Amino acid sequence: MSQERYRGLSAVRRRNRQNLRALLYRRAPVARSELAESLGLTLPTVTTSVAQMLAEGLLLEEPAPESPGSQGGRPAAVLRFNPAAGCALGVELGPYETAVGLYDLTGGPIVERIFPVAPSDYDEMVETLSGQLAQLAAEAPSPLLGAGVGMPGFVSREQGMVRASSRTGWNGKPVAEQLSARLGLPVLADNNVRLRAAGQELFCGSGLPDLFAYFFVSKGIACPLLIRDELLSGCTSGAGEIGHMVIQPDGPICPTCGRRGCLEAVTGETAILRECRSLVQFGRAPLLRELCGEKELDIKAVLQAQQAGDDDVGEVMDRAVGYLGLALANVVNLISPAQVLVDGYLFRLEQNRQTLLREARRHFYGLNAQEVAIRFLPFDHYGGARGAAAAVIERFCIRAE
Ligand SMILES: [Zn+2]
Repeated sequence: MSQERYRGLSAVRRRNRQNLRALLYRRAPVARSELAESLGLTLPTVTTSVAQMLAEGLLLEEPAPESPGSQGGRPAAVLRFNPAAGCALGVELGPYETAVGLYDLTGGPIVERIFPVAPSDYDEMVETLSGQLAQLAAEAPSPLLGAGVGMPGFVSREQGMVRASSRTGWNGKPVAEQLSARLGLPVLADNNVRLRAAGQELFCGSGLPDLFAYFFVSKGIACPLLIRDELLSGCTSGAGEIGHMVIQPDGPICPTCGRRGCLEAVTGETAILRECRSLVQFGRAPLLRELCGEKELDIKAVLQAQQAGDDDVGEVMDRAVGYLGLALANVVNLISPAQVLVDGYLFRLEQNRQTLLREARRHFYGLNAQEVAIRFLPFDHYGGARGAAAAVIERFCIRAE
């Protein structure tokens, strides 16, 4: 066989193995015959690869629940990844806190910790973060695959760096490479919201459609897209940054990009807090004033006041969430995803969920109104850390060469 043909074949085998692991991970528990059928491979090919993974301890085999084949003859068996075969670290450098976690191979948390917001000085951030990651790495009960780092802004996974963000001191620095050298582990970096979406797709994947959007609202607002297990990052790594979609051309100045009328400037948590502070200054929002006293206003207090029935706060929230509904409808009308997952602290309140849905539905075009499913996720401090670990598992286990 010629060298070239041999190389071609081994590349095909490698890809087949990667596709087999990817399908097995997402469809587990799954039978060999289903894997063969879905991938268009022969049963012996699947059986050989599976035997190797079982021998490595990567998979677990168990009897299929209530399988018809179990009456007489060999009982049917199903396969899944062994959670104890490895683990991954993940961290999200968020605007309010740093969330770090160590997860088993199927996304189960082993240790999770919240630390203060990362320092804005780059060298200090690397120093602090490598210390935090090393602390959790020391608790790894199984081989550690690597660490994933989620950061806001235009983050290039290929280059392992933030290309552009409002924390300008971090831009253009090889953060993945430097953390990797300090920790002695493979490290990948990506946008924090894209990683949240990746975590949902990998760990809670069953039932998620091929094309879905992840609508995330915090201090910033973003909406990454997932297309057939692949995160769309765009040519500039900036895909999904809907926070800077213009929604009010002459609106307030955006705290992140400095231009006027961005979605983030009108509806982000910073904008909501700014409006609530001004209410308090003018002696309005009585319940919010009572709740806060001398304390600095935060989004938690704002939601508490809204829930308690503070009409002034309710008005601010209805307006902000209404704009978010408008933005959501714009996204849906542009890409027509099968499903949108909505994630954000604001949506802890049922009334905010209802406002978002009502406003979005008013602006959905055509079939989108009936056919696009909107699903709210429970707010999770560790969603970004877990998503970063998911990306590590995908890259260094499922898609490993
Ligand atoms: Zn902006």
